[in-house]
Amino acid sequence: MEFEILQVYGENMSMDETILEAAAVGREVPAVLEVAEAEGLSPVLLLKQVSSGRVVIMQRDERPPLGIGEGLKTKVNANVGTSADLPHPDVEVEKAKVAERYGADTVTDLSMGGPVDDILRRIWEETTRPLTTVPIYQTVAQRGSFESMTEDDLLRTIRRHVAAGVSSIVVHAAITFEMLTELAKTKRIMGIVSKGGSFTSAWMLKTGEENPFLSNFEAICEILARKDVVLSLGNTMRSGCIHDPMDGLQWRELDMNADLARRANELGVQVIIEGMGGHVRPDRIPEYVAHYKEKTGYRPLFVAGPLPIDIGVGYDHISGSVGGALAAGAGADYLCYITPSEHLALPNAAQVREGVVAFRIAAHIGDTLKYGPRPQDEMLARHRRVRDWEKQFKLAIDGERARETFHRDGTGTCSMCGKYCAIAVMEDLLKGSTYANPQI
Ligand code: SF4
Repeated sequence: MEFEILQVYGENMSMDETILEAAAVGREVPAVLEVAEAEGLSPVLLLKQVSSGRVVIMQRDERPPLGIGEGLKTKVNANVGTSADLPHPDVEVEKAKVAERYGADTVTDLSMGGPVDDILRRIWEETTRPLTTVPIYQTVAQRGSFESMTEDDLLRTIRRHVAAGVSSIVVHAAITFEMLTELAKTKRIMGIVSKGGSFTSAWMLKTGEENPFLSNFEAICEILARKDVVLSLGNTMRSGCIHDPMDGLQWRELDMNADLARRANELGVQVIIEGMGGHVRPDRIPEYVAHYKEKTGYRPLFVAGPLPIDIGVGYDHISGSVGGALAAGAGADYLCYITPSEHLALPNAAQVREGVVAFRIAAHIGDTLKYGPRPQDEMLARHRRVRDWEKQFKLAIDGERARETFHRDGTGTCSMCGKYCAIAVMEDLLKGSTYANPQI
């Protein structure tokens, strides 16, 4: 049967149903219409994508909603947040603002030091993008040890973050005791490198209890459904170096996450799958992305990086953006940025800017691979041809940096070649021809 919007525009979804529930019966959803307009897509098609779980809509109060998934522009997330060693709220709020200013689509607050609730509230007040948290971080930080944390503590933190207005939360639900027993026997070089995944595993090993997110999965979905918060299913078993191959543990986590995603969708909760992140050989990235997408029913795929090499330390935002471009080009929908301080330190605001810009470049390359050359690139080339610098800066991913770097030669070209500017030299020689008078 042809899928169509059943209700006329203007009649909104009921307050009691989530976007997914409304989309499932073809009911009009204002947030879907807004995203369709922002992405230049048909609302009917987008509603269908949402109902099938291939696209999620992140909402944040009265702010513009954000769509993530198949057929949409690749999105970029920036992580900020205090650590136990550097618990400075002002710095993290500033980093969140910098991330937004340079084009991050979403911000994740990973604070573990200082007044965590206050930091989340301030970031919420001073930014506009959808916000994500990983509730186990704050729970561990507040309890001070893995073993003293209880399942109720975790549920309380989730309720608090949802009440605070976050757009999505991350849980690492797809690890079991059996998998941890197997992990102990593997020859992985790096073992587990996911922080949230290691916290969850540490709690399980210390208490002898099964995965708290798995045991309370329905209860968590119920909390999220009440405020239509997106569930991000974390990736504990991702590889931490390119010589740790995608092993059976990762594939099992992927299968479990795919099952959990179906269960969450049935409960009205939209789902993002985290996976494939960490460190992955560049030749394997497209194949693994395709596998992830297929196994999870083409749900939105969120990848951290991935880093295609391990020795770019100090420049991991560059190697990560190459991996991110390959992943996005192969179908990943959402990239988590990496900063130059990855593996070395908590980033500062300048490093956040570098990371965001590097990953916006990666996302744009990914979109070019997915959807063909973008019109912005053609426009920039046309303005470059006539040396219209201001228009080039406006189109550039970081126009501010371009403007700061620009050094004008006396002849109107830049100081790279000055009077020997290739474009100007040829235009001069072919004066009067079509070549010398390009159409803008
Ligand atoms: S001077 Fe060189 S680098 Fe600058 S616009 Fe001309 S050709 Fe390009």
